[in-house]
Amino acid sequence: MTKSEEQGSGGGKRTIAIVGAGIIGVSIACRLAREHDQVLLVDPLAPGSATSFGNAGHIATEQIFPLASPETILAAPRLLFGRNSPMHIRPEYALKIAPWLLRFTWASRPSAFRRGVQALKSLQERSQESIEALCADEGVSDLLRMRGHLVIAESKKALGELEARHLLLQRHGIESVILTSDEAAARASFLKPGVAGALLLPRTGHVLDPHRLCTRLHERFSEAGGQTLRARVDNIETPGDGSFVLRHEGGRIEAGKLILAAGARSAPLARQLGHAVPLDTERGYHVTAEGAPDLGGIAVESHERRIIMTPMDCGLRIAGLVEFGGLDLPPNPRRHGDLKRHLRELAPDLELGELSEWMGFRPSLPDMLPVIGESPANPNAIFAFGHQHLGLTLSAITADLVADLAAGRKPSVDLSPFRPDRF
Ligand SMILES: Cc1cc2nc3c(=O)[nH]c(=O)nc-3n(C[C@H](O)[C@H](O)[C@H](O)COP(=O)(O)OP(=O)(O)OC[C@H]3O[C@@H](n4cnc5c(N)ncnc54)[C@H](O)[C@@H]3O)c2cc1C
Repeated sequence: MTKSEEQGSGGGKRTIAIVGAGIIGVSIACRLAREHDQVLLVDPLAPGSATSFGNAGHIATEQIFPLASPETILAAPRLLFGRNSPMHIRPEYALKIAPWLLRFTWASRPSAFRRGVQALKSLQERSQESIEALCADEGVSDLLRMRGHLVIAESKKALGELEARHLLLQRHGIESVILTSDEAAARASFLKPGVAGALLLPRTGHVLDPHRLCTRLHERFSEAGGQTLRARVDNIETPGDGSFVLRHEGGRIEAGKLILAAGARSAPLARQLGHAVPLDTERGYHVTAEGAPDLGGIAVESHERRIIMTPMDCGLRIAGLVEFGGLDLPPNPRRHGDLKRHLRELAPDLELGELSEWMGFRPSLPDMLPVIGESPANPNAIFAFGHQHLGLTLSAITADLVADLAAGRKPSVDLSPFRPDRF
């Protein structure tokens, strides 16, 4: 526990309270601590212990197409019921997720999808610059490796799909290169032989340890004078003068501004601030081969299997899968089994060592866009959650935008597609 965690804080009207210390919350905390002297981060867990702990570490700056798309709807029967599918609905949660899935279907219509692409692109155009700047400013650039990543195709048909994606990305100004089988093998020597080809995305990257990124950013926040309180915010009261009282088991915190960055658990607190957002979770899984040798290379995504393998300091991590099962059901061991099978099939000769397992909760809205912006009911409440598959990638640009809002500056991105009352 750091000194600032021991001290806790009762806050005050000049305090900016950030609820949630995942990658979104700690990135915002770092940015705010540079401009404000009373910033308080509140979380019952140590920084980066929830979903930001175990993601694939991919800085996916090329992903400008929301998953709510006509293409996903066309693929839905295969995705939901196919053998070895990367997407599952837990039967116990099927009724609960049904309204979310209906909204997702509506958000996938062509006109909404086109608007979603423009919105996501407006964030992604700045995401690389933002994360490089945040890491440089906070002295953590050693954890960031922006050397691109590879999407492999195992069949001729899949390679044709990658060629089509290459042309589409080109139309949007995103650099990519089609590689032959041999060229792909040269970039990822651990891969099984006989891959049909690959798409190289040279402007993407990965982090060497997503959890360490959070803890190191948090250390920098504390060094800059930021305070941290280990507590779960149960209630938010709004006394009527634009300020907030945050209630937790050990007491109360007063704050003049509030940033809500509680990931997949943000919805109940947003409701108390007057916004019913249809936030649910796409659960995802990882397996880390802790004994894999230092591969030193780039991340490798499989187009057909929809998983990604990232070389990290802690080993080779394979991550992915989407499971609709809410926040309370235990992980399904079969999903870890699926990832281990993919790993053994894709890297048959690789020494894997111990395999550690993990599951996390992607915070997802049905239109697959985050909520970033002020509450229309009280502009002192700023929302920053719902980053679905892209929370690490979009963490720093989100922090920049929230810092602009908190300081009363005009944000560099039009935030209307991300407003909390869009549903
Ligand atoms: C398998 C998997 C792979 C992924 N791979 C990638 C990837 O390669 N690249 C990428 O960009 N993204 C990836 N993601 C998505 C990314 O991990 C998430 O979008 C991101 O971690 C969300 O960050 P967050 O800070 O919003 O949430 P979290 O990390 O979940 O943090 C939220 C914090 O809020 C706290 N909190 C909750 N309720 C309260 C409360 N009432 N009071 C106080 N605190 C509270 C929690 O304790 C938690 O610490 C992946 C996700 C998964 C599951």
